[in-house]
Amino acid sequence: MATTNGPITGGPGEENTMTDGPTVAVIGAGLTGLTAAYYLRRTLGAGARIIVADSAERVGGKLKTVATATGPIEVGAEAYLAFREDATAFFEQLGLGDELVEPSGLPSSVWSGGQLHAMPRNTVMGIPASPEGLGDLISEHTAARIKAEGDSEQVAPMHWISGDDCNLGQLLRVRLGDELVDHVVSPLLGGVYSTSADDLGMRATVPQIADALDTLANAGAEVSVTAAAGLVLEQRAAANEARLASAETTKPRPVFRTFQGGYQVLLDALIERAAPELLLHTQAGAVTRKAAGFHVEGIGAVDGVVVAAPAPVTGAVLADVAPAASDIIGGVDIANSAVVAMRFDDDSGLPHNSGILVASDAGLDAKAFTFSSRKWPHLQQRGGAIVRASFGRYDDCALVDLPDADLIAKAKADLRTVSGFDVEPAETMVQRWYGGLPRYDVGHMELMDVADQELAEIPGLAAAGAWHRGPGVPACIADAKKAAVSVGKHLGGV
Ligand SMILES: Cc1cc2nc3c(=O)[nH]c(=O)nc-3n(C[C@H](O)[C@H](O)[C@H](O)COP(=O)(O)OP(=O)(O)OC[C@H]3O[C@@H](n4cnc5c(N)ncnc54)[C@H](O)[C@@H]3O)c2cc1C
Repeated sequence: MATTNGPITGGPGEENTMTDGPTVAVIGAGLTGLTAAYYLRRTLGAGARIIVADSAERVGGKLKTVATATGPIEVGAEAYLAFREDATAFFEQLGLGDELVEPSGLPSSVWSGGQLHAMPRNTVMGIPASPEGLGDLISEHTAARIKAEGDSEQVAPMHWISGDDCNLGQLLRVRLGDELVDHVVSPLLGGVYSTSADDLGMRATVPQIADALDTLANAGAEVSVTAAAGLVLEQRAAANEARLASAETTKPRPVFRTFQGGYQVLLDALIERAAPELLLHTQAGAVTRKAAGFHVEGIGAVDGVVVAAPAPVTGAVLADVAPAASDIIGGVDIANSAVVAMRFDDDSGLPHNSGILVASDAGLDAKAFTFSSRKWPHLQQRGGAIVRASFGRYDDCALVDLPDADLIAKAKADLRTVSGFDVEPAETMVQRWYGGLPRYDVGHMELMDVADQELAEIPGLAAAGAWHRGPGVPACIADAKKAAVSVGKHLGGV
């Protein structure tokens, strides 16, 4: 693994004698913390002292690239949503444009009812405007239900007031049926939030649908889930048409991108540009306000603070300085998960598929497989095969807590079931992610607005991370930038 420690000049709390600018502490050296450090450096310049503390022995948090005999692979996040052009622009700004690679475009499938099905088409995270794109993932009965949902003569329109929120799974079960939730929406959302639609709030997880419901309600139209999905899909089609009509875009855009050398390349670039004092094995504690600046337990006196730790830690360290934000952020639930990565010497017999999602009622332990070497040409070129199996759902640690050998056995058995691929891996890696992903419940965004309001009243302090405005890589980068720039500007930066 490439070097992860930056230059350390002076221990925690020492008098700042090496710099002529302000001292800022960043709590957490995951993507959010390191991105914040980068933007603090840009805003405050070379004279600032930027201390990044992480309780772990390594940087990166949920970004973790590990070595295999044939090259690096990911055991945490493996890609980012490429339509977030702000993320791509950020990586290019870091000089990493040439590192970005695109997927093969091979399709994925869903395992449900003992067989493979094509991925649903023309839906909003699985939420359909009509049953057409769902193929045989749903029964004729559910297809008829979906068809009828928008017809007020058959199904009463929804009562929806603009700005409402609700439990996504409950709403979809009532309006469109259990099969849609278990076979389609939960497998799709499970990859992002490590939980089923029944544990998620709509506005935070499928905001496009919530906005479309608002639009229908505001227009006095009959409100239904399928009408809302129809509106989103129409807008999407119009945007696509406009994009294709513009001169510079003739090539279809990939949905995902990743780094040829793995996310480690990004972590290394951020550390190089931010040039922080990196304190590993350092558990930061309570942030308290001082006459000038702050005190951070485990770090010392500083002029500004960016908290970029997972929700429970962020909540705890803010308890003294921002009690309401502390309660709200500390109250964001987290889900545990495990990744079993397997490298095979030979890929003969592995389906020509990017991966397989598993329906939540399919009776398997794994919730998804990524055929990484099929999905990413740069991994395919190495020869052999790389497959990742994901386990774990919110509120259920039984699988994540299993010994490595048992998890690997389950990964192999479920892989055999869904793909027929029955080969002994040459290498296996088990990575558990306790608190790996935040669960966005009903009202998440409104609660975050309240927390943000309190934090905004404390100049020089900001908090950001996967628990805040989206757990994906682009959302963490945007959140980190906002937090760092606000702290940096307060400290006189530009
Ligand atoms: C298995 C998995 C797969 C994923 N796949 C994708 C994907 O393909 N695409 C995508 O966009 N997103 C993906 N994500 C989500 C994304 O990776 C994360 O949301 C993001 O990396 C979180 O970054 P962060 O810096 O906010 O938090 P973290 O990565 O959790 O970093 C927080 C850091 O704070 C440190 N810390 C904790 N307590 C303290 C303390 N007291 N003092 C100091 N430091 C502390 C931790 O050690 C950690 O390093 C995935 C997540 C997981 C778990």
